[in-house]
Amino acid sequence: MKNFLRAIRLALHYRLTLVGVFCCSLLVAVFWGGNIGGVYPIVEVAIRGKPLQAWVTDEIARADAKSAEIRSEIERLQRVPAEAGAAAETAARDLAFLHRRLQAEQAASATVRWLKPWIDRYLPADPFRTVVWIVVALMAATTIKDSFLFANHMLVERVVQMVAFDLRRQLYHHMLRMDLGEFGEQRTGSMMSRFNVDLDYLSRGLNLLFGRAVLEPLKAVACLIGAAFVCWRLLLFSLLLAPLAGFLIRTLARSIKRANRRALEETSQLMGVLSEAFHGMQTVQAFTMEKYERNRFHRVSKACLQKAMKIALYSSLSKPAVEMLGLGMVFIALIAGAYLVLNQATHILGIPMCDRPLSIPALLCFYGLLIGTSDPARKLSDVVNGIQGGVAAADRIFPLLDRQPKIVEPEHPRTAPRPHRQLVFDHVDFHYTPDQPVLRDIQLSIEFGETLCIVGPNGCGKTTLINLLPRFHDPVAGAVRLDDIDLRQLRLRDLRRLVGMVTQQTMLFDDTVYNNVRYGSPQASLEDVVAAAQRAHAHHFIMDKLERGYDTVVGPGGNRLSGGQRQRIALARAILRDPDILILDEATSQIDIESEQQIHLAMEQFVQGRTAIIITHRLATLDLADRIAVMESGRIADLGTHDELIRRCELYRRLYDVQLRQTA
Ligand code: ADP
Repeated sequence: MKNFLRAIRLALHYRLTLVGVFCCSLLVAVFWGGNIGGVYPIVEVAIRGKPLQAWVTDEIARADAKSAEIRSEIERLQRVPAEAGAAAETAARDLAFLHRRLQAEQAASATVRWLKPWIDRYLPADPFRTVVWIVVALMAATTIKDSFLFANHMLVERVVQMVAFDLRRQLYHHMLRMDLGEFGEQRTGSMMSRFNVDLDYLSRGLNLLFGRAVLEPLKAVACLIGAAFVCWRLLLFSLLLAPLAGFLIRTLARSIKRANRRALEETSQLMGVLSEAFHGMQTVQAFTMEKYERNRFHRVSKACLQKAMKIALYSSLSKPAVEMLGLGMVFIALIAGAYLVLNQATHILGIPMCDRPLSIPALLCFYGLLIGTSDPARKLSDVVNGIQGGVAAADRIFPLLDRQPKIVEPEHPRTAPRPHRQLVFDHVDFHYTPDQPVLRDIQLSIEFGETLCIVGPNGCGKTTLINLLPRFHDPVAGAVRLDDIDLRQLRLRDLRRLVGMVTQQTMLFDDTVYNNVRYGSPQASLEDVVAAAQRAHAHHFIMDKLERGYDTVVGPGGNRLSGGQRQRIALARAILRDPDILILDEATSQIDIESEQQIHLAMEQFVQGRTAIIITHRLATLDLADRIAVMESGRIADLGTHDELIRRCELYRRLYDVQLRQTA
C-alpha cells in the first residue's frame, strides 16, 4: 500500500484537476440520488390520479388535521395525573412519542407548504401533463448528470495518464543510470514489463481510485441521505448486513492483491522468455531448439493463465457475494417496509421505525433509493479488485525506482587531467559474486600514448578489466587512477567522455549510418562523419554498397549490415569522439583480412597521441602493441613486448601458436 500511496502523491501534483474530479463526482451523485428521488412525485401523481397542486393542498390539510388530532391526544394525556402510577408512566411514554410524531407531521407540512408556491406556479394542473413534465425534467437532469460524468471521466483519465507519463519518464531516467549488470535478457523482459503491463495495472488502479472509488460511494451516500429523509430508522435496520459486506470485500480484496502480484511476476517472466527468444531467434533456429522454447513458453504462459484464473475466481466471487448482500439489504427493507405500510404501523417488534406511518409512494421511493445505493456498492467490489491490481503493480514499480545504482557520482568531483600522464591499475580486485574472484591484485601502469594489448584465454577477466575504465563496475579493492586521481573522483560524464569503446557488442541503432556514426558526438558535421568513416575504412562500403549512402537506415541492431561493416561503423563512431583512452575489445574480429590490413594502417595512425587498450587474438593487431599483457585466471601472468613474451612466457607462446595455426 505504501507504494500505491506514492503513486497517489504523484497524482496530487494535479490537485486542481482532482478538485474538478471531486466536484463532478459530487454533482453526478446529487443528480443520481435526485433522479431516483424524483420517482416519488411521479408515483404519487400516477397512483392518486391527481395533479400535484391538489396533492399538495390535500397533504397540507391531512398534515394539519393529523397535527390537530395529535395535539388533542397530547392534551388528553397531559391531563392524566402524575400520581396515577402505571397509567401515568404509559401516558408519559406515549406523550414523548406523540411529540415526536407531531414534530414529524409539522415538518412534513412545512416542507410541502414551502414547495406549494413553486408547484402552483410552475407545474401543470393536469395529472398526465404533470407526469410528462416530471419525466422531461428527469431526462434533463440525467443529461446534465451524464455531462458531469463525461467531464469526470476525462479529468480522471488526464490525472492518471499524467501520473503514468511522469512515472514512465522517472523509470526510464532511472534505468539509464542503472548498472549494466541489471540488464540481462531475463531482466530486460522483466523491466519492459514494468513499463507496459505494470504501469497499465497501476493506471487502472488509479483510474478506479480517483474515478469510481470517489463517485460510487458519493452516489451511494446521496441515495442513503435521500432514504434517511424518508425514514432513517428503517434505513439503519436495512443496513444490518452492511458490516458483513465490508468484511467480505476486505477479505476478497486481500486475496486479489496477492493473486495480482503473482500474475504480474508471471507476466514479467513471460516477457523475459519472449524477449530472449526473439533476440536469439537465429540461435534458436540454428540449434533447432524450437521445441524447447515452445515448452518453456508453454510453462510460463500456463502459469500466467493459472494466475489470471485465480484473479477471475476471486473477482467473480466478490461480485455475486456483494450483490447478494446488497439484495439482502433491499429484501430486509422490503419486508420491514411492507409490514409498516400494510399495517400503517410505526414500530416493528416494539422498535420505533418511523414517527408517522409511511405512504406507499414514500416506501417505493425508499426502495428506489436503496437500490440506488446497492448498485454503486456492487460496482465497488470491482473497484476494490482493480485497485488491488494497482497496489500490486506499484509494489513492483517503486522498488525498481528505489534501487540505487552501485556506481555513484562523487560528491566533490575533480577535474579530469587532459591529457593524463599515466593510467594505473593499483592492486585491483574485482568479483561479480563474492565467492568467485574475477580480477586479483591487478597492478598495471600504462603511459599516455602507449598501446597495450591484452591477451589471455576466454573467461580470464579481460573484458571485466577494461570495463572498470568507464566505471561500468568499480573495483572491490584497490583503485584505477588517472595520474593520481581515482576514477571514482571524476564525474561519470567527464570520465566517459575520455574513453572511447568499441566492443563486439557495440550497438548500432535503427537509424541512418550518419546518425549512428554521430552517436555520442552530436555536434559533428557531415564532413567530420565522413572523415571518421574514411579513417575506419567504412566510407567506401557506405558509398558503394548501401543504396542511400550515409542516409541508409541500418535496421534494428544494424542487422542490415554484415558483422564487419557494423564493426567499422562502430570504429568510426569511436574515432569521431576522439577519446584520450581508446578501448577495443575484439573490435576487429569480424573484419576480413583485406579490410583488416587497411584498418591496421588507420589504427596505427589513430592510436598515436592517445592511450589504447586492445583485447585481441589477432596477430596483426598485436603488431600495434608497445607492450602486451598476458592474463590468466584474473591475474596478469606476464607483461612485456612480443619478443620478450615469446622468449619467457609459456602461456603466450601457446596462445600465439594457436593463432598462427588459425591464420595459416
Ligand atoms: P574474458 O573477457 O577474458 O573472456 P570476462 O571478463 O568476460 O572474461 O569474464 C571473466 C569471468 O567473469 C568469467 O568467469 C565470467 O563468467 C564472469 N562474468 C563476466 N560477466 C559477468 C557478470 N555480468 N556477472 C557475473 N559473472 C560475470
